[in-house]
Amino acid sequence: MEQEKAFYQRLAEKGVSRRDFMKYCTFLTATMGLSSSFVPKVAEVFAAPQQRPAVIWLHFGECTGCSESVLRSQYPYVDELVLEILSVEYHETIMAAAGQQAEDQLHMAMKKYQGKYICVVEGSIPTKFDGGYGKIAGRTFLEIAKEVVPNALATIAIGACACYGGVPAAKPNPGGYKGVSDAIGVQTVNIPGCPPNPVNFVGSVVNYLLLGKLPAVDDLGRPLFAYGKTIHDQCPRRAHFENDEFVEEFGSEEAAMGYCLYKVGCRGPETYNNCPIVKFNDGTSWPVEAGHPCLGCSEPNFWDRFTPFYEEL
Ligand code: SF4
Ligand code: SF4
Repeated sequence: MEQEKAFYQRLAEKGVSRRDFMKYCTFLTATMGLSSSFVPKVAEVFAAPQQRPAVIWLHFGECTGCSESVLRSQYPYVDELVLEILSVEYHETIMAAAGQQAEDQLHMAMKKYQGKYICVVEGSIPTKFDGGYGKIAGRTFLEIAKEVVPNALATIAIGACACYGGVPAAKPNPGGYKGVSDAIGVQTVNIPGCPPNPVNFVGSVVNYLLLGKLPAVDDLGRPLFAYGKTIHDQCPRRAHFENDEFVEEFGSEEAAMGYCLYKVGCRGPETYNNCPIVKFNDGTSWPVEAGHPCLGCSEPNFWDRFTPFYEEL
């Protein structure tokens, strides 16, 4: 009770009302595909966490956009997300330690939480030339991944690069960059996107804290609650050519089709993600709503598979 009170007090100090917070929990619960009866339990995960799993967050070949995406999520504020529900033991972007101190922290955390920590990987792993294309503290990304990932309770690959190689794996790919699972042969929960929507990461973590397991995934390792349908299946622009009233208003089906971005290269029909429902920037908009075709960023090999962009599939 005291813990909960203190949590709401901290939210209030940041200008977040209890009502706003409950609104976020309702949105998160719906995104996770749970019934509304779970909303108070989801709120409890944040307000009075029973457990705070240790997290080791690794950075490999990437731009740090995925960390930015998670850290910029408005609710819960980063300190609530990171410090209240997760015990982040190692994260190069936000930790104060550097150099030897950071290395020591990584090894201390691995030893202390052996087999119990959640490993989050951001970025892809170069596999050619013994992994020589990417190193931290004299060790290749490949060596680090082989040491840290198999000793974790579970590994979440965040972003297109960690999941399937992403942009670093695009042709000609001289370094042999691959996603974590392909590079070291360990199964991961994949949250793809360039960047991924932070809600899908938070939803996966809350699923674990609430139900004691990571979410059900498709055959590409993606949580079904977020990647179970195509962008096209959920796209509001379909209304313009599938709704008789719109077609009548536009004069013909062809004219109504003008609202669809397929002819300017939309990859929505072949891309599984929930962007049309959860949107970005706290539900403000998403690319297709803003007039830009979907580029297919949550699909494996999206860069080579879908370029040249802006051309009809
Ligand atoms: S804009 Fe893209 S996702 Fe939307 S209806 Fe057209 S093809 Fe489908
Ligand atoms: S609309 Fe398509 S390209 Fe844009 S973020 Fe969503 S899945 Fe990725």
